Formats: sequence, C-alpha cells, structure tokens
Amino acid sequence: MLTVSLRDVPPEGLRVACAVSREDLRLAEKDPGIKDVLALTAYVYAGETDCRVDGELHGVLIHECVRCLELFDRPADILFRAVYQDPERRGAGDAGDGDEADDVYPMVTARVDLHDALREHVILSAPMQPLCSEDCRGLCQVCGQNLNTAACACEEVKVASPFAVLRDVRVLSRKPPVS
Ligand SMILES: [Zn+2]
Ligand SMILES: [Zn+2]
Repeated sequence: MLTVSLRDVPPEGLRVACAVSREDLRLAEKDPGIKDVLALTAYVYAGETDCRVDGELHGVLIHECVRCLELFDRPADILFRAVYQDPERRGAGDAGDGDEADDVYPMVTARVDLHDALREHVILSAPMQPLCSEDCRGLCQVCGQNLNTAACACEEVKVASPFAVLRDVRVLSRKPPVS
C-alpha cells in the first residue's frame, strides 16, 4: 500500500488511505513510537517527469521526556508533501522548478515508495526536546527520583545561600541520608 506504481495513478490523482505501523516505517529505538497505528491519507499525482504526494498522518505518537525520561503520548497531525523524481531525468528541471522547499525522493522504476518520506516526517514532527509537561520537574540529580511523582530526601538540602550549602554538606556527612 505504501508503494505506488505510476501506472496506477489516473490523471486526477490516486487516493491512498491505510493504517501505518511502527514496523512499516522502520522507526529506530530513538525515534518516536506510535500508539497502535497512524492513519494515512494521501494523494499521488503523476507529472511528466516527477510525481507529487500530498498527505496527512493522524494518530498518537509516544515520546520520551528529556527531563524525567518517562514515555508520554501526544496526538500527531502531520501534513506532508513529497516530490519524487526519476534520478535519471533529474537535473533537467532543477534550475527553475521552484520545488526547493519540497522534500525530493528518488522515483525508482516508475514507482513511488512512501516509506522514507513518512518515516522522516514522523521523526521531524517530534519536538527536539520532548517534555511530558512544560513544568515537568525531572529527575533528582542525586538519587534519580522522578520528582513529578514524589519528593526525595535530597530535595530538602537544596537551599539558596552558598554558605547554607556548606552547612548542609557538613550535616549530611554526619548523618546518613533519610531513605
Ligand atoms: Zn517529564
Ligand atoms: Zn534525590
């Protein structure tokens, strides 16, 4: 379903609609996860030397919070456009086709393969620094406790004055940390 032969594309364009899984997109461990599947709707338009795909993906992506490292869901509505060009004929229209802004993918043996375009757009749609919430408190740098779910004993020694820090270090060195 994610590979379309240009022979099957009528002049008015071909509508492609299907469910796309994490496996379909060959997403890596570090990439966003997909909750269940993403719904793909796309239109493939064939030109004389190239081919254009306009589409959207809807569903829920799973991200890892950069502060607390917990996984969280976020709805994703990804619009994309990809241009496919036959590598053999590329160059002819490069100078003035005005498509610089579009992502260009190779068109091999008159087939359009959506896998790479979809994977890249899913990855690009993810924030660089995903946060489960704007005010995520992250992990304690000392004991690793997720501070969103509970406070830890280390928190209590966080103080404003550098002299107070010295005092607390001395206190801590005498007293084992509260568990
Ligand atoms: Zn978080
Ligand atoms: Zn702690």
